[in-house]
Amino acid sequence: MALNIAIDGPAGAGKSTIAKLVAKKLGIIYVDTGAMYRAMALFVNRRGLDGLDEEQVCSCLRDASISLSFQDGEQCVLLNGENVNDLIRTPEISGMASRISVYGDVRKKLVSEQQKIAEGTDLIMDGRDIGSCVLPNADLKIYLTASSQVRGKRRFDEMVEKGESCDLENIIKEIEERDYRDMHREISPLIQAPDAVLVDTSDMTIRQVVDAIMKLVEERR
Ligand code: C5P
Repeated sequence: MALNIAIDGPAGAGKSTIAKLVAKKLGIIYVDTGAMYRAMALFVNRRGLDGLDEEQVCSCLRDASISLSFQDGEQCVLLNGENVNDLIRTPEISGMASRISVYGDVRKKLVSEQQKIAEGTDLIMDGRDIGSCVLPNADLKIYLTASSQVRGKRRFDEMVEKGESCDLENIIKEIEERDYRDMHREISPLIQAPDAVLVDTSDMTIRQVVDAIMKLVEERR
């Protein structure tokens, strides 16, 4: 049986940082499902579609093939065969991804792709609905969170380090808006699955979070 670990939680909780480190320690792959919603958002953007128009967005889904490839353990998200990793981390794409991810047909398409990837593969997968919907039988489910102030400050520090100009209050506001949409959508809202372990990272270092998760993995093995 393959080892499947699910990590869910709101934007900026540190899911990808933590999941990457845990994947490395365990020698398994890390799958970032948010990148797939972002690639779909890029497709919608490039087509010049209105993200708020469900019919417009869903009528062109069959033209968008979204898949993942792994090079030296690093995930590349492919949109119709093009590696779009470097084009999907903008605030515009973040907003569009969160808007189009409320549509049932978008979710159905990407969830089925994610389930195929996980079949028979040892992996740690992060997103919003992994424990509740994509991998309901995961060996370990983690719900990673932190206060919106802490998450906003982490994002702010990352951007400052990259030399990007930003405003802390604005970042916190965007994070809270995204949380609200993710938690209140009708289909697969962001929730803590009943069998998920809650890890609040507000006052924890990255090392402490990784150690806590490694301990949980060992307990489940
Ligand atoms: O994780 P990331 O911030 O890159 O995800 C971008 C957006 O994609 C999220 O705000 C959320 O709306 C959506 N998403 C989702 N389900 C997932 C992963 C991401 O709805 N499993």
